[in-house]
Amino acid sequence: MILSASGAHHYEMPLSLRSFTSLKRALLSSSSPSLLLRGSSLVPTMAASSTTTVSSTDAGAQLNQSAPSSPPVQVAKRLEKFKTTIFTQMSSLAIKHNAINLGQGFPNFDGPDFVKDAAIEAIKAGKNQYARGYGVPDLNSAIASRFQKDTSLVVDPEKEVTVTSGCTEAIAATILGLVNPGDEVVLFAPFYDSYEAVLSMAGANIKCITLRPPDFAVPLEELKSVVSANTKAIMINTPHNPTGKMFTWEELEFIAKLCKENDVLVFTDEVYDKLSFEMEHISMASLPGMFNRTVTLNSLGKTFSLTGWKIGWAVAPPQLTWGVRQAHSFLTFATSTPMQFAAATALQTSDSYYEELKRDYLAKKAILVEGLEAVGFVVYPSSGTYFVVVDHTPFGFENDVAFCEHLIEEVGVVAIPTSVFYLNPEEGKNLVRFTFCKDEATLRGAVERMKQKLRKR
Ligand code: GLN
Repeated sequence: MILSASGAHHYEMPLSLRSFTSLKRALLSSSSPSLLLRGSSLVPTMAASSTTTVSSTDAGAQLNQSAPSSPPVQVAKRLEKFKTTIFTQMSSLAIKHNAINLGQGFPNFDGPDFVKDAAIEAIKAGKNQYARGYGVPDLNSAIASRFQKDTSLVVDPEKEVTVTSGCTEAIAATILGLVNPGDEVVLFAPFYDSYEAVLSMAGANIKCITLRPPDFAVPLEELKSVVSANTKAIMINTPHNPTGKMFTWEELEFIAKLCKENDVLVFTDEVYDKLSFEMEHISMASLPGMFNRTVTLNSLGKTFSLTGWKIGWAVAPPQLTWGVRQAHSFLTFATSTPMQFAAATALQTSDSYYEELKRDYLAKKAILVEGLEAVGFVVYPSSGTYFVVVDHTPFGFENDVAFCEHLIEEVGVVAIPTSVFYLNPEEGKNLVRFTFCKDEATLRGAVERMKQKLRKR
């Protein structure tokens, strides 16, 4: 399937509009002042003040009679098709319905004290002005050391490491800094939502390859048929959000060969590398001949349960780092200084931290996976990340959105409908994602609610 990320090419929304609309209505009637319904999409208001809230066009309801003349929301064409992110929508609904949130992937437990203490110390020590644009030297060095430990590759912290505001900014800086309008970029669906949005901002042509259950393996021949000398880059994500799939050596080798034959770059999002359970994580950059054409993206948030700190990075050879840094300079210029010092402390921790993290997550994963199976889902194997994807169709709902809506309103549990992670939402209509980055009581509570209240339609 070949689609332009920027044009008006997109599939008709085949999801039940009724379902989507009622999800939106639920949001609309929530107390969140920062959202409003406009046409068929939820979009952020330009100001959070309730006086700027405007009407719902399809409901014909005037939300706020006192401000009928508020200007219509505007958005550039390249972002027109994107809605309020599914994570924001679902977390708002979780609060509104007092539901257990197994949707957005943020831990409901805190990061380690030694890292928090390092941040407090850095603030007290006056490390509070702009950081060097591409990262404080301590953090660049800590990232280079960790990269060497993980991949055996020696990188220059000054020329090959760029610190960003979370991996989401690293993804944006990589794409905006290296992809020209019209360039073809290969994506694997389901994909993390920001990839498509940023490719659209860059004016890229997306070529999408769908990974299918049960194992979400890369369809090698199909991939080969879309990669050519016109391909600029292949975007990969391993361990993979939302499926938990991890790219195997054979798959990475096949992709690497295609890249070398066709002079293609790889952008690889590896933020869940320390949450690999069923197999060893393999970095694309570590494959023979690949470092020079690879941008490796990572962050602190998942590994240290500090998703709100927004410290990320890109590791790439100097010629690619140049483009990444040019974009980064004008996106955010620099990232929070004290948090960077604390991140450097975090990354210097011993391996036992990662072993314990994995042990904890394996226990959580077992609770959720066994629970979901007992409830009656078809649970697909997840090798890494803190997500599992299930097939909800045993319960008889028409699609993932309708199922998630029922799950929130009638059962009190939030999951993520996966159709938003596909160019063609139909392909995700049977699948929903649950996260297990919650304490064990929360996971057990969610399973219990589903056991008691979730029934076949
Ligand atoms: N990475 C998180 C997830 O997949 C979401 C982050 C966000 O809300 N943008 O759940």
